[in-house]
Amino acid sequence: MERDIYQELRERIDQYSVGMSASGSGKEIAILRRLFSEEEALVYLALSRRLEPVRSVAAKTGMSEKEAARILERMKEKGLVFPKTSRGEKYYAAAPFMHGFFEHQLYRKDPDPELPRLIEDYLTGGFFPRTRTLRTIPIRAELPDHKKVLPFDDVREIIRSKDRIGLFECACGHHLKTLGLRRCTHSGEVCIAFDFYAEYPIEEAGVGRWISQAEALNVVEYAEEQGLVHQVGGDARNVECVCNCCPDCCTILRFLKLLPNPGRVLSSNYTPGFDGEKCTACGACVKICPMKALRLDGETMVTETERCIGCGLCVSACTHGARTVLLKPDGVIRRPPSPEKYTFMRSSVDFWADLAVDGTDRR
Ligand code: SF4
Ligand code: SF4
Repeated sequence: MERDIYQELRERIDQYSVGMSASGSGKEIAILRRLFSEEEALVYLALSRRLEPVRSVAAKTGMSEKEAARILERMKEKGLVFPKTSRGEKYYAAAPFMHGFFEHQLYRKDPDPELPRLIEDYLTGGFFPRTRTLRTIPIRAELPDHKKVLPFDDVREIIRSKDRIGLFECACGHHLKTLGLRRCTHSGEVCIAFDFYAEYPIEEAGVGRWISQAEALNVVEYAEEQGLVHQVGGDARNVECVCNCCPDCCTILRFLKLLPNPGRVLSSNYTPGFDGEKCTACGACVKICPMKALRLDGETMVTETERCIGCGLCVSACTHGARTVLLKPDGVIRRPPSPEKYTFMRSSVDFWADLAVDGTDRR
C-alpha cells in the first residue's frame, strides 16, 4: 500500500498536547497539506518533542546536514517546529497543533491567506482536544478573601516568581482578526509567557517582547478591568503562561462552551456562590457568563455548577452583591498537575534539560 505521509503526520501530531483529532471530513489533512510539503512532513516525522541538533535530524533522515538545516529553517518560518539556538548550535523540536503551529501562524512573515479559514472550519467542526489544558483563576478582586488564595491560584504571585517574562499578541484573537471575525475592542497584547515559551518566539522569531514584573502586573490589571479570563498553563514544576482570554476569541473557551460540563474539563478551584436575597433578577450575570452556566427562570436564578469555570466575571457584573465565587472544599482542590499527567505544554524544564550536555547547562 502506498505510504500516506499526511495521515502518518496527523497520527503523530495527535500524540502531542491536545492532539489533532480526525474530523471525519478530512479538514485536518487539508490543514496539514497546506502547511507541510512532503519533505517537511518527513523531517517532522523524524523529530520528537525533544530539542535536537540538525546533525541528529540529518542522521535520522539520511539527508545531508545542509539539506536538513535548509528544511528545518523553512519549517521554522512556517511555525512547524520549536527552534532554539544554544551556544551557536541550532536545535529543533516538533511543534504540536496547540500550543504549537496554530499559535505560531502569528509569527509568519509570509502568512498563508487560506489557512485561517481551514483552521476555523476544523475548530468548529470536528476538532476535539484530547487533554486537560489550562487552569482558570478567578479575577482577584472578586475573591472573598485574597489572603487565603493558594499561591498556584494567584496570578500575581506567579508573575512575582518569574524573571523571564514575555508579552505577546493573543494568537486566538489574531486568528479571528485575519478572518474578520474579531468583534472585541480590548488590546490583543495580553498573552504572557515565561521561560522557554517566551525565549524562542522573542529570540528566534522576533515576535513579542521582554517585559518586567511591573509591566506584567499592569497587563493583569488591564485584563481584569476588561473582563478577560485568566488561564494558566504548566505542570507542578513550572508555570509556562498566563493567558488573559477573551471569552469570545479564545479557542479553548469557544470549544468549552459547546460542551455540557466545561467546569469538569477545565481545572478551577472555585465554584459559584449566590445570595438570592440580594438578587433583583436584572440578568447582568446571565449575559456575561462565558459558559452559559446561569439562567433566569422567571425571577428564579438557575446555576448549572458543572458549566462554571470559576472565572469570576459574574461577580464583577453583579452590582447588587448577589454573586460570589467560593473556594471548593479541601478534598477537591486541584493542585498543578504532575509532569506525567500534564501533556498540554511540554515544560521549559524539559526543554532546558535537552540542551544540557554532561550536566552543563547550555541555555
Ligand atoms: S458562573 Fe459563569 S461567569 Fe460566573 S464564575 Fe462561573 S463561568 Fe464565570
Ligand atoms: S447580576 Fe446579580 S442581581 Fe442581576 S441577576 Fe445576576 S445575581 Fe441577580
